Amino acid sequence: MAKLIIKKYGNPVLRKKAEAVIEINDGIKKLASDMLETMYSAPGIGLAAPQVGISLRLCVIDVDPNKKSPVVAINPEIISGENKITAEEGCLSLPGFYENVKRFEKIAVSYTDLNDEKQKITAQGFFAKVVQHEIDHLDAKLFIDYLPDWKRKSIEKKIKRKKKAGDW
Ligand code: ZN
Repeated sequence: MAKLIIKKYGNPVLRKKAEAVIEINDGIKKLASDMLETMYSAPGIGLAAPQVGISLRLCVIDVDPNKKSPVVAINPEIISGENKITAEEGCLSLPGFYENVKRFEKIAVSYTDLNDEKQKITAQGFFAKVVQHEIDHLDAKLFIDYLPDWKRKSIEKKIKRKKKAGDW
């Protein structure tokens, strides 16, 4: 396993729609395990492949505080969603920023696992929020895209200042 570098906001890979994973080979398995290691050490609860510079539809999630329930979701898709709620979100690619985002409270998701088996799960609450956030990354979308213009612009301004200071 190896720890990967997490790309921060401003890196073009985060704004590129990721490609479907065609074959679950050793390279994909290694990527998934490296991403889990990177996520745990960040520490974080979700990480999408574009965040480590790989434009593929793969994400890893573990909302278990004991870090014992990793989910590796390949080519994940939201089938349905219900009941919108607002909750605070952050992102490893936007360290230090937390904002309220409105998302489905409950979703049905399909994905392929590392054994090349199709899975269909229901996610609710906190877990559902993370799944939606990570799938957004695969579609080049970031949580700040949901914010009102003025708020997003103020975050972008702060990031610009951080970049200038070499702090980004
Ligand atoms: Zn994120």
